[in-house]
This record gives sequence, C-alpha cells and structure tokens, in this order.
Amino acid sequence: MKYIDEFRDPDLARRLAAAIAAEAAPSREYRLMEFCGGHTHAIFRYGVQHLMPPNVRFVHGPGCPVCVLPIARIDHAIALAKEHGVTLCTYADLMRVPASGRTSLLKAKAEGADVRMVYSTQDALRIARSEPGKQVVFFAIGFETTTPPTAVAVRSARAERLANFSVFCNHVLTPPALRAILATSEPDAVRLDGILGPSHVSTLIGTRPYAFVPSEFALPVVVAGFEPLDVMQSALMLVRQINEGRCTVENQYIRAVAPEGNPKAQSLVGEVFQVRERFEWRGLGFLPASALELREEFADLDAERRFPVSVPPASDVKGCECPAILRGIKEPTDCRLFGTVCTPDNPMGSCMVSSEGACAAYWSYGRSRAAS
Ligand code: SF4
Repeated sequence: MKYIDEFRDPDLARRLAAAIAAEAAPSREYRLMEFCGGHTHAIFRYGVQHLMPPNVRFVHGPGCPVCVLPIARIDHAIALAKEHGVTLCTYADLMRVPASGRTSLLKAKAEGADVRMVYSTQDALRIARSEPGKQVVFFAIGFETTTPPTAVAVRSARAERLANFSVFCNHVLTPPALRAILATSEPDAVRLDGILGPSHVSTLIGTRPYAFVPSEFALPVVVAGFEPLDVMQSALMLVRQINEGRCTVENQYIRAVAPEGNPKAQSLVGEVFQVRERFEWRGLGFLPASALELREEFADLDAERRFPVSVPPASDVKGCECPAILRGIKEPTDCRLFGTVCTPDNPMGSCMVSSEGACAAYWSYGRSRAAS
C-alpha cells in the first residue's frame, strides 16, 4: 500500500539500524523523547527500540490526549450526563477511563446515563438532528489534530440553528506541554538529548512552533512520521544533530508537514476557539495557555457554560504511575500495578485504556516485559 509498505520495509530498517549503530558514539547516551503516543505504539509494535544500540533510548512523552485528561474532566462529563440528563457523545477510548469513586462513563451508562459512543463529530450532529427532544453534548478531546472537525461541527450547528447541540471542550495544545516537560525543575526529571516531534499535530501547526526548543532548551527536534522507518530515520537525524553539536528543528515527515502547517485549518480553528487562561493536565498540573475553549460568540454552543456543574478536585488511583509516565520519569513496568491489578480488562489509569497510552503499548506488544 502506498505510503505504508515502503515505510515498513525490513531491508531499509536493517540499513537504518546499521547507520544509527555506526554513528551513535559508544561513549555517550542518546535519550530521545517521542512526544506522541502514536510514536510510542510504533516503537513497540515494530520493535524499534530493539533495533537501536543500547545507548540510544526512547523516552515516552505526554502526547496521548486521553492519557493527559485529568480525572476531574471525566467526572465533569459524567455530571453533565447525570445531573443535566444530556446525551453525552464520546469516542470509545474515553468510555473506560477510570473516574472518581471507581466509576467511568461506561459505568454511568450502565446506571442509566445517556452516554453514546460516536466515531466523529458528524455522528453527534446526526443524533442532535434526529432527536430534537434531547440535549446532545459532544465530548471534544484531542490535540491540535482533532480540533478542526470540532470547529466544523460548531459552525454547522450554528448555521443550522441546532438548539440542542453543544460541545464539552477539552482540546489541548502541544507546545505548552512540551515546554512544561522541558522547563521542569523536578530533581528526578529525565535528561533529554532530543525530541521526536508530533506527526499529525504538525500537519496542522507546522514545524515553526517548536523553534523554542532549540533556542530556549538547546535541544534538537525532528518532526517524525508514524511509521517505523519514519521513527528510525528521525532517530538517525537526531543522532547526527547531537554528534555535530547542532540544534535545530528538522522535518522528517515532509510528505505531510509543511513549515507553516495548514493555514486554512488554523484559520477555521481560530474562528471558533480561543486559548484558555489555564487548563489542568494529568501529570503536568495546571498549565497556562495550554488548551482551547469556544469563543464568546459561540457561548450558546459551549456545554460548560450552558450546563454548569460543580466538580470537586480529583486524584489519580493510588499506586497508578500515569502522571510520572506522562512526564517521561517512569516506564509502565515501574508501576507495581502493571499487569497485576491493572490490565486492559481492568484498567486503573488512562495510560492502560487509551489506544495511544504507554501502558497499553507495553501490554499489547509485551516486548518490554520480557526485557524487564
Ligand atoms: S499500569 Fe495501570 S496503574 Fe500503572 S501507570 Fe499504567 S495505567 Fe496506571
């Protein structure tokens, strides 16, 4: 298949692995953080870590939107469905994320709340059109990549004067999270030598928003595609920058990412959303200007303003290491619940539920368990 097979070619993978092994200096370590959960899954699914020399190591970052959503936001969604009786439309991943009091959206549904799984914003709009007696709330989640479809849905609802549709907005922004990871002064913070920049996010925002990483933190960035050879080629590009003492933003994913991103999508997003003053992230706490909310002119389509609820602060399940994993400080196998109490059938944290979560990757592909 075009753009798939050639990026999974075993012979090319062997040659890239040999080039990395030849160029990585044995006297030093190369700690490369892959920001995206999509990269984490590619690394585990295709055994990319095992093709690297021992001193080139991938560190998993916070780029999984379900994983970084704090429990209080799931509690908020459940309260919308239970207290206001709305029809809450959500993607499948969110259904099983543990919320406060050992509940979840799935359990709320079992208790009678009208929670429905959808595949797109358009599904949610269809429900609103076909059931005018219901208040339909779309649980919008994701990094920059998934924001344009939500903007399209908001514009459609406005154009159609749909009075029974609104959005519970949880869209978050990549650069502030990356900055928070790099700026941390935690004593146990992981030392990084380079960053594999996001794939799909970068199709929207381009490569320029990462310029602060070399200029402020003296680290190289390579925007990397999601296929295994993309990841390997990006690792080689990072190794070369590090060896040459260079520090710049490079783009490996040129087949999809332009330096300026997608201006049309950016303009659509800017028309509907504005930056929130601050937003809570699991593992990173409250970060300023790190998420989006609907603009004032779309306030009637904002579920948070339309259906006020009061949600107390929430904490993660005792023993769950998701916050440290999302900061790159720990790995899933460092969690004593991994594979014992916490499994995909009985997840204790979001990193085991999400299809992009690090714990799910470790569990699904198992290689690291053998290694550990
Ligand atoms: S294994 Fe489960 S409990 Fe442990 S960090 Fe991952 S999601 Fe949390």
